[in-house]
Amino acid sequence: MSEISMIRILLWGAGGSVAQGRLEQPCNALQLNEKIILLDAGEHCQKMFEVFRLGSNSPLYIFISHLHSDHYNGLNPLLESFSLLGRRRPVYIYGPFGLRRIVMHNLEKLNFPVHVTEFLSEEGTFHLIENILSIRYVSAPHSLNALSYIFETKEKIRLDEEKLNTAKLSPIQRKKLTQDGLVIKDGIPYELKDFVKQVVPGIKVAYSGDTLPNFRFAAKALDSDVLIHEATLLKSDWYEKPYMAHTSLEDALNLARKIRAKLVVLTHFSSRYRDNDKLEIAARTLFPRVIFAEKGLIINILFKYPRIFHVERISLLNN
Ligand SMILES: [Zn+2]
Ligand SMILES: [Zn+2]
Repeated sequence: MSEISMIRILLWGAGGSVAQGRLEQPCNALQLNEKIILLDAGEHCQKMFEVFRLGSNSPLYIFISHLHSDHYNGLNPLLESFSLLGRRRPVYIYGPFGLRRIVMHNLEKLNFPVHVTEFLSEEGTFHLIENILSIRYVSAPHSLNALSYIFETKEKIRLDEEKLNTAKLSPIQRKKLTQDGLVIKDGIPYELKDFVKQVVPGIKVAYSGDTLPNFRFAAKALDSDVLIHEATLLKSDWYEKPYMAHTSLEDALNLARKIRAKLVVLTHFSSRYRDNDKLEIAARTLFPRVIFAEKGLIINILFKYPRIFHVERISLLNN
């Protein structure tokens, strides 16, 4: 894979079960070059692929947080539409126990392989995309078995060109120095640490899914560049639905502060909020850098340090 210069967060579904007006069911994505990592697959998530022009044959990894239907309603329609559009590449789907049952009955209709991984333990880590991306999953306290995910790219080491030129290392020797940490030239050892100009920390994005405030997730999400957290209700509206296993906007932002997130994206809003006005007023004093998820918003996280964020909005005309 060519070098990653940024991660893009593509926002689409900012609602929960009751998708109304501006709020689609949960479905957002991370984009690393041409690779797409889907965060839940609510109803109409195939529309997201059309609007963001993600293509039906992109390398695709889908992470389902839990099996409330608002988080997977769009999964089978998405796979079927890809099949009709001629996809051949495999799709990788990850999620809690029970996910396989939802996808399996549909597989014989598809023209491409689907690999389903169910996470059975409370937490774990694995690597994707040529070891460039590590993924942690952590069980989330919700009204059924649920997971939160933390995505982190490998750090980048920038080398000092002047020192490299002085040492007269060939391109092959430079590659070996970067890969192995050591290269021998004319009997002289050259160590990577002597050529490091800057270490750019990996980009870290944490996604809560549906959850009560979760300190286990918070510990793993420490120092995230972007925290995407559910914020179903304001605390003041909580009394009507105190049984819900969700997080209030206030608690989501408290958690963001504790983990020192650089930017927070709030999502999974109750359909009772026709717009974000009340939510924005409540957020104002709690955390300085909050984005309210909405259809068509893109957050570009540049692989630089200090980190740079660019926010853009794509046109939703005709959509
Ligand atoms: Zn939900
Ligand atoms: Zn749920």
